[in-house]
Amino acid sequence: MTRTAAYATPAADKPLRAHSIERRAPGAHDVQIEILYCGVCHSDLHTARNEWHNTQYPCVPGHEIVGRVTAVGSEVKQFKAHDTVGVGCMVDSCGHCRPCREGEENYCENGFTATYNGPMFGGENTYGGYSTQIVVDEKFVLRIRHTADLAAVAPLLCAGITTYSPLRHWNVGPGKKVGIVGLGGLGHMGVKLAHAMGAHVVLFTTSPNKEADAKRLGADEVVISKDSEQMSKHTGSFDFILNTVAAPHDLDAYLALLNRDGTMCLVGAPATPHPSPAVFNLIFKRRALAGSLIGGIRETQEMLDFCAERGIVSDIEMIAMRDINQAYERMLKSDVKYRFVIDMQTLKDEAKAA
Ligand SMILES: [Zn+2]
Ligand SMILES: [Zn+2]
Repeated sequence: MTRTAAYATPAADKPLRAHSIERRAPGAHDVQIEILYCGVCHSDLHTARNEWHNTQYPCVPGHEIVGRVTAVGSEVKQFKAHDTVGVGCMVDSCGHCRPCREGEENYCENGFTATYNGPMFGGENTYGGYSTQIVVDEKFVLRIRHTADLAAVAPLLCAGITTYSPLRHWNVGPGKKVGIVGLGGLGHMGVKLAHAMGAHVVLFTTSPNKEADAKRLGADEVVISKDSEQMSKHTGSFDFILNTVAAPHDLDAYLALLNRDGTMCLVGAPATPHPSPAVFNLIFKRRALAGSLIGGIRETQEMLDFCAERGIVSDIEMIAMRDINQAYERMLKSDVKYRFVIDMQTLKDEAKAA
């Protein structure tokens, strides 16, 4: 066991603060990773504050981890010391159900082990990336081929794969008209990835002041979703819409924009459900409403390599570990372009000084 500096919260109504946890010594199949950067996902806040009513305390959030390998177990084949690696939302799964055998551990029928708050599917608590090191089975460790901007790579491990997987599943590419709803942590990655895949990308936003930024990120067009005239110009024209909004809203306004056999996929997780969509909107053009959860390990590696080849990273704002509570408050106001990333050197320095 290794005593490890971390930031944790002891209860739903308490801020995160310095804490120490025990990490296991690397077993035969384990990779020990010194954490360099950890992205701040909205799920971190939901879990820290028990908003999904399943949090086990103490809670150490963080599932957008980039780090360097410091040691490997005797049976580890794919990684060695000093490799740059990543860890996303999962650290284990059953390995034998059909989704696991097909490389879709994110849909494991027995519940994957989440990187933090693992007991949401039973078992021992797990502690995430707001810490200085982590030990993970090599099957759940990703190779990072980016050579620069490692801090901005971190959000690819959740926001990146959450948007990449549905874009790939619904065959987004050249000749396709694709909508991205919302320009936050997920949406800004959706715009970059759909653009890189060669699609015609339309961003939907409620804020006119996001137009210039959306175009810089790769959007071909920007539609202000509150403007029904602008919306109606696109009726029946989209092959696919990726909806990243995490607040309940009227889905019909977007479903009506899909063409025959078009699909809208939801990746945001609202605390209360969206109003049910109108059935006629769906049946008249055989439209589909779908959902998608992160992505499997094989696909996450594919996404990281796709991004490394094209120099794609997240737009980030770097923070010190001690500023995490303030960052949560800003995230609630969508006051971040477009993802906070914690520089874990600041936690190492803080722990040394204590
Ligand atoms: Zn996340
Ligand atoms: Zn499984």
